[in-house]
Amino acid sequence: MPAPLRLRLDGDALVQNWRTLDRMSGRAACGAAVKANGYGLGAIEVARRLADAGCRDFFVSNWQEAAELAPLGLTVSVLHGVRDEDMAAALAGFARPVLNTAGQVGRWKAEGGGPCDVMVDTGMNRLGVSTDDIAAGLLDGLELETLMSHLACADEESPMNEVQRNRFAALAGRTSARRLSLANSAGIGLGTDYAFDLTRPGLALYGGIPRSDLVDAIRAVAAIEAQVLQCRRVGAGQTVGYNATWTAKTDTEVAIVNLGYADGYFRGFSNAGTARAGDTALPVIGRVSMDLVAIDVSRAPSVHEGMWLALDFVFPEAAAVSGVSQYELLTSLGARFKRSWI
Ligand SMILES: *Cc1c(COP(=O)(O)O)cnc(C)c1O
Repeated sequence: MPAPLRLRLDGDALVQNWRTLDRMSGRAACGAAVKANGYGLGAIEVARRLADAGCRDFFVSNWQEAAELAPLGLTVSVLHGVRDEDMAAALAGFARPVLNTAGQVGRWKAEGGGPCDVMVDTGMNRLGVSTDDIAAGLLDGLELETLMSHLACADEESPMNEVQRNRFAALAGRTSARRLSLANSAGIGLGTDYAFDLTRPGLALYGGIPRSDLVDAIRAVAAIEAQVLQCRRVGAGQTVGYNATWTAKTDTEVAIVNLGYADGYFRGFSNAGTARAGDTALPVIGRVSMDLVAIDVSRAPSVHEGMWLALDFVFPEAAAVSGVSQYELLTSLGARFKRSWI
């Protein structure tokens, strides 16, 4: 079937972003979080490109995601660890678990599981064993590759960053871990004090800008293109779309494109988003529908039925305009896009 929608993905920008983050990580290695299908862009395509560029450590959430990557033969860590029902997959050896709880550690030891990673909580109170557990010897006997923790506020100037960093640094040498890893994308922006031996960026690989100090360093990766299904003239005083939230001040040329919140182009772009025909910026008018968006194309007379238009999806502006986080925007890009890497 011909694709109804296009997502243009810039493989050079992806690789450049990883190289930039790798450089910013100083002496630490730079991995890649490719969970949630590579933040919506396609985990296999992303992982293959980054592996070719030299990335050696990949992170997914669960064993289903790890199994999808298994044919690439990469080193993959599963952030959610091992539930009982994951043990068969985990023991097959195509990825290693990041153990998060005493229960997971016990399960892994009881089955004689091999190499593993461990998450320790240093203040986020999300996943991870406690520093007390570690002091009490919970990790003794594990074949521990990477001890990691996760920053709660790395995208802000928060005193909590240093508190978490210091708690984590205090664990150096207290376990048999070969490597320590703390920083996500925003954490890399905090400086090499936060990099330890391995960094784990996700968002910024895909063009996300979690901290303003990354603005100039990170390139956009994903671009949305939608096709005009109908052009119409809307007379002065008439309205467009659900709930008639936009009224024409003068006669207006309007194009309706095949994109909507079912594709991840959310209601927040209503009367706020921007499309482009060449260099001409064209405002989204009225409510975004489930599958359709109206665009004022009065300034672009060449726009016609069947033409493809680009929709602005550049971070962090798109997040500000839509009121939805960059993470949600990326991971919501739907299955109706044909993802084309250029
Ligand atoms: C998702 C995730 C990352 C990547 O975070 P970004 O903010 O997308 O860079 C790193 N580490 C862990 C534990 C994660 O869950």
